[in-house]
Amino acid sequence: MKLRTLSSLEGSKKISNQTVLIRVDYNVPLEEKKGSLTVADDTRLVNSKKTIDWLLENGNKVILLSHLGRPKEAPEAKYSLRPVFNYLKEQNWWPKLSFIDNISQDAKDEISLLRGGEVVILENMRFYIGEKQNTRGHAQWLASFGDVFVNEAFSSCHRAHASTVGIAQILPSYAGFALEEEVNALEKIIKTPARPLVAVVGGAKISDKVEATANLARMADVVLVGGGVANNFIKAQKVEVHKSYLESAVEADDKKKDINYVKTAKKIIEENCWEVYLKDGYIPLQKIVYPVDVWAASDLKSDQAQLINLDRDMHDTDKDKNLMYLDIGPKTIRLFQEIILSAGTVFWNGPMGVFENPSFSMGTGEIARAVAKTSAVTVIGGGDTIDALKNAQLEKQIDFVSTGGSASLEFLAGKVLSGLAVLAP
Ligand code: AMP
Repeated sequence: MKLRTLSSLEGSKKISNQTVLIRVDYNVPLEEKKGSLTVADDTRLVNSKKTIDWLLENGNKVILLSHLGRPKEAPEAKYSLRPVFNYLKEQNWWPKLSFIDNISQDAKDEISLLRGGEVVILENMRFYIGEKQNTRGHAQWLASFGDVFVNEAFSSCHRAHASTVGIAQILPSYAGFALEEEVNALEKIIKTPARPLVAVVGGAKISDKVEATANLARMADVVLVGGGVANNFIKAQKVEVHKSYLESAVEADDKKKDINYVKTAKKIIEENCWEVYLKDGYIPLQKIVYPVDVWAASDLKSDQAQLINLDRDMHDTDKDKNLMYLDIGPKTIRLFQEIILSAGTVFWNGPMGVFENPSFSMGTGEIARAVAKTSAVTVIGGGDTIDALKNAQLEKQIDFVSTGGSASLEFLAGKVLSGLAVLAP
């Protein structure tokens, strides 16, 4: 995919002495230390450094735009980017770094007084109502803070928001170094994947993944579905899931309000064939593979995991009614491992269970080990998936770690991401 890139600007075309708005993805995991929040994993911060340093060396002022979490289009203290600013201040990568907590006229005046070499982080872009809706007025206001726009947030490119798409439609805009590198690496994988191509999809938010799962199912030889997403596929087979997590349409994006994800899962299963290609040829296996057994409990924090075989242990007693399926079971692990080990390419996005609780982390850990062990080309994406591999100290055995979760899922599923489309030459 061709993009307008920073790396292609040479000589007099180089951006210098301008105010550059950079969309970064500082939606990083935070943890509490000594009573205050700090950054738990700075991979995404490090990822943006090369582009920022390069622009500062050329005498530009840099304004960083990012989101953090999912605030409800209004300021919420727990989603402030201030902890990220404090962390960066401690790292001292950019001695002249400041934080502005609003986008008022005063903020703009303050920025206009800055000099080349200075960096400002603006507060969470999702505190503003025009961000997700990408209203023209909001995008124009944001764009008026700078002269040039650079996108360095691959992981947000699947969202047509004001800070990813709106500004890019107004200002001269370019892909940053890391964004360009990531697109090139992922593109190489989809053009000619070594087969069988096995996609492993987990996590909880099916609203983010359902379309990509449907597209991946067309491209991939096998799709292994685990985590909360699998509950939709299990229920689609009329197997009881009790109180298991099924994302309600209301929790998902407003635009998708009428979607019933269980019905969608059923359609995906029906649309895909019953013969899958594995290394030694075709076998009569359903292309969409979901758990045959699960570990369950009636509480996310429980340490009393109960094994349920989905084909036979299905009782509907009052006790069962409160059960949630929280991890894939041993038979499912065995099945998924076998398929991953015979793959040519594996793409994995999303944990297989509530891996934050050790009682339900086995599925994710075992799949991480299989992905690390397979001789296939391996690509992983998504914060939790990366964490799971890091926890098991296996991330060095992965061929490509994408910064984007849903963005890489959609990209690999063949979708043109809105944030990239606006950077086309
Ligand atoms: P996502 O952002 O969609 O990748 O979701 C990641 C989250 O999914 C993690 O916090 C997991 O705890 C959660 N998760 C994984 N499996 C399940 C499950 N079976 N039920 C509920 N939540 C789950």
